[in-house]
Amino acid sequence: HKLPEITNEPNPTYAPNSPEREKLMQAVEELRSQSPQHVPLIINGKEVKTGNVERQFMPSEHSKVLCTYENAGPEHVEEAIEGALAAKSSWENLPIYDRQAIFLRAADLLSQKYRYKAMAATMLGQGKNIWQAEIDAAAETCDFLRYNVKFSEEVYSSQPAANSRGIWNRVEHRPLEGFVYAVSPFNFTAIGANLATAPALMGNTVVWKPAPAATLSNYVIYQILQEAGLPDGVIQFIPGPAAEITRKIFDHPEFSSLHFTGSTKVFKDLWKEISNNLDKYRGYPRIVGETGGKNFHLLHKSADVTNAVNQSVRAAFEFQGQKCSALSRLYVPDNLWPQFKKEFVEKVNSIKVGNITDPSNFMGPVINKLAFDKITGYIEHARNAPECEIIAGGKYDESTGYFIQPTVVETKDPFTKTMKEEIFGPVVTAYVYPAEDFDGAIELANSTASYGLTGAIFSQDRNAAVYATSKLTHAAGNFYVNDKCTGAVVGQQSFGGARASGTNDKGGSANLLHRFVSPRSIKENF
Ligand code: GLU
Repeated sequence: HKLPEITNEPNPTYAPNSPEREKLMQAVEELRSQSPQHVPLIINGKEVKTGNVERQFMPSEHSKVLCTYENAGPEHVEEAIEGALAAKSSWENLPIYDRQAIFLRAADLLSQKYRYKAMAATMLGQGKNIWQAEIDAAAETCDFLRYNVKFSEEVYSSQPAANSRGIWNRVEHRPLEGFVYAVSPFNFTAIGANLATAPALMGNTVVWKPAPAATLSNYVIYQILQEAGLPDGVIQFIPGPAAEITRKIFDHPEFSSLHFTGSTKVFKDLWKEISNNLDKYRGYPRIVGETGGKNFHLLHKSADVTNAVNQSVRAAFEFQGQKCSALSRLYVPDNLWPQFKKEFVEKVNSIKVGNITDPSNFMGPVINKLAFDKITGYIEHARNAPECEIIAGGKYDESTGYFIQPTVVETKDPFTKTMKEEIFGPVVTAYVYPAEDFDGAIELANSTASYGLTGAIFSQDRNAAVYATSKLTHAAGNFYVNDKCTGAVVGQQSFGGARASGTNDKGGSANLLHRFVSPRSIKENF
C-alpha cells in the first residue's frame, strides 16, 4: 500500500474578524457557558462512573470549574488492564493499513470537525492563548497522528540487508507482549495524544492516564479516536490519582512499557519502582520518557542581537515558559550586553499577560496554584539573592487567575539557583561573560545544569557556530543555530534529549516507534 501524502497541518492566522477566529471564540464561549462538563473513564469503549469525582479548573479564572471527572480506583485499573490485554490479539492482527487508517482519519476529524472544540478545551483548561492552542491541540496533534503513520512504514520496512541463495531472512516487528502504560503531562494536548497513540499504532494496547489539568482536552482527543474507529479496549482512558493507578499498573505481570512525559523526579521514581518490581514481569519493560530541561541560548560576540532578543522572548515566554524546551539560561557576551539588555527588557516589559480569551494577551496564566507557588518562589529567591537582580517582571497576581509577569534575572554567579534548577515557568536568568572567553561560556552552557534537552547558539560567524555545535555535543538533544530553542515541528525536528532530560527516543520519529516493537528475526530455508 502507498500512504496518502503527509505534510504538516497548516495554521490558520486567526486574524481579527477572520471566520476561524469567530468560530473558535464561539466554541470557547460555548464551552465556558456549558461548564462544568463531565468526563467519565472509558474502559472497553464504555463510559464508567466511579463515584469518586475530581475537578479541573480554569487557570485564567481559577474559581471556575471546567470539568468534573471520574477518578479511577484500583478495581477500574484492573478492569482497564484486563480489557487492554483482551483487545490485544485482534488489534495486533489487523493489517497495519487498517490501524494506520484510524489515526489518519482521527487527524482529519480533528483538523476539520473538532479543531475548535479541542482548542477551546486547551485554552480554557490549560491556559493557552489562541495561537498556542492552535499549535498544540490542532497542528501538532494532527502532525503526530499523521507522521507516526509515515514513520511506522519506516519501521516495518526496515528489513535485513542480505539473503543468500535458498534463504529468505526477514524481520517481523511484533508489538510488545503485554500492555503499555502512557502517562501524559498537562502542558501539551499533543503530547498526550502521541503518548497514547504511538504505541497503539504499532499494535500495542494502552492504558492511558492523562494529567489532571489536561483532562478535558485529552478526553476530546480520545472521543475523536473513538469516532475514527478505534476498537474498544485498544486505548483505555483512565484519569485519576497518579500514585495509586501507577502502583496497580506496576504490580501487573503483563506490564511491558512506560511511555512518559513529565518531571525528572517523577520519572526517576517510576523507574525505581519498575526496577523494584522487575521479578514480577515477563520481560524487561521498555521505559521511554521525556522529562525536564534547563535550556540555553548562547550568544557569540558576533551574534545578531535583535534576532537573539526576538528569539529569546519567544523561547522564554511563549506558552508561559511551561515547556520542557523553554529557554531559562542566557549567556551573553559583555560586548553585546548593553544593547541586548535594553532591547530585551523593552520587549519583555511590553508583553501583555492575562486571560486567554483576550487575544491581545501574549501570555496566559500558569497552570495551577502549585506551579504558581513554585515559580514565584524562584522569583523571590532571585530577588533576595545578592548575586541576582530582577531586571524585568518579578510581579505576580493570583487573585483571579495564576498570572506571573515575564521575569528576567541578571546574575553575577553563573551557578546561582535559577541557573541550575528547572523552573517550568516564565523566568529566564542571564549571565554576562567576557566576550573573549567563548570557551568558558561554552563550558557553562554545557555543564551548569544536569539536563540535556534544548539549546541554541547565536552567531554570525559561522566558524564560531560550528565550534560551539561540536563542543556542546551532549548539552542538548535539540540544538539550534540562530533560532530559538523551542518549537520543534513534528516531521521536521524530532524531539527529545538525554542526560536528566529523558531517554532521548525522539518524539516525532521512527526511533520512538521502534521502542514499541519487539523484532523477531525469521530465517527460512527454501
Ligand atoms: N516539542 C516542544 C518544543 O519543541 C516542547 C514539548 C515539551 O514541552 O515537552 O518546544
